[in-house]
Amino acid sequence: MKTLKDLDISNKKVIIRCDFNVPIKDGKIVDDTRIQGALDTIKYCIDKNCKIILLSHLGRVKEESDLEKNDLYPVSIRLSELLGKNVLFSKKTRGEELEEMINQMNPQDVLLIQNTRYEDLDGKKESSNDSELGKYWASLGEVFVNDAFGTIHRAHASNVGIASYLPSCFGFLVEKELNALSILDNPPHPFIVILGGAKVSDKIGVIKNLVKKADKILIGGGMAFTFLKAEGYSIGKSLLDEENIDFCKEILKDYKDKIILPVDVAVTNEYTNEEEYRQKEIQEIAENEMGLDIGEKTTNLFKDIINDSAIIMWNGPLGVYEFDQYKKNTCELLKYMVDKNLKVILGGGDIVAASEEAGYKEKVYHASTGGGATLEYLEGKPLPGIEAIK
Ligand code: AMP
Repeated sequence: MKTLKDLDISNKKVIIRCDFNVPIKDGKIVDDTRIQGALDTIKYCIDKNCKIILLSHLGRVKEESDLEKNDLYPVSIRLSELLGKNVLFSKKTRGEELEEMINQMNPQDVLLIQNTRYEDLDGKKESSNDSELGKYWASLGEVFVNDAFGTIHRAHASNVGIASYLPSCFGFLVEKELNALSILDNPPHPFIVILGGAKVSDKIGVIKNLVKKADKILIGGGMAFTFLKAEGYSIGKSLLDEENIDFCKEILKDYKDKIILPVDVAVTNEYTNEEEYRQKEIQEIAENEMGLDIGEKTTNLFKDIINDSAIIMWNGPLGVYEFDQYKKNTCELLKYMVDKNLKVILGGGDIVAASEEAGYKEKVYHASTGGGATLEYLEGKPLPGIEAIK
């Protein structure tokens, strides 16, 4: 893996692709975690006396009316505060004005360029990896650093495009993600996978890839009900991914001993937090009931299985964690892992949000920041942003 320390960047013009896709409301940044996450790489480049040019996308830009709400300017202000130095901002994504700003830069200066997706207004130039745009942005610097893990599964001009024209490497954030996730390429055993979340369809690629490597796959969340249906259980009004019942049947047939399904669930009649739930064995779900969480016995079963694990990969909450009642078992299992010092990688998305809310995010071995990127990594797909630098 080519990282920042493998390239001679001293005194050079360095372009860093960051992930500053932060939530902004009424011009104010609601959560600056992603900006904080970029600081190590930026500070390292400042220490190396570089001129630092930053690129990032923010939201989606499909029409003129998307421009204002996806203006990156507030990020430059917050970044200035966090770095304790002025951050220049270019309102333009290309052109003479931007080039002149870069010409005027001194070593250690930091310049943020406007949202890369402003270029999407003109024929999706950024998102379709327009080669002329990638080449143009590359012409602004001497070295390229990709530190945006969240878009590493996409071939965009600001990551793959630029990397095609400049000596390139990964920043510290991407390095950390890849170091953690690459453990799963050849995992130590027992390797336990926990999958939850809503739909089977979102996890088919992950299941297909990891079922060969894992010792056990524990399934909870909404997706468990399609597996249970495939096993012949009545699941009442629980979430069903009809189209994938056959896929579940196949997997259950081929890997009967590896796939562990819930033995009990928390059921209710309506999709709401107001109604008190009932704990039921899996064969007792009535026609008018839906399962919104795994049950106590299942939680204990999962604890027993992970107890002697060498590594755990967990993607997707085991219940509707947005409702207080149904986050209980997800939180309990997280707590168990943390208390027992079990090595767990949280594979992005909602399980990371759930762990953060419950105060466990900083305590687990690794909580991946990339939703789609992490899932595609776990599917074993080559990721364009990685391939471009490899
Ligand atoms: P995912 O994005 O696939 O990780 O799915 C996360 C979503 O799955 C969350 O919004 C949860 O509310 C939902 N979820 C988890 N368990 C269930 C369940 N038993 N029934 C319906 N939705 C669920």
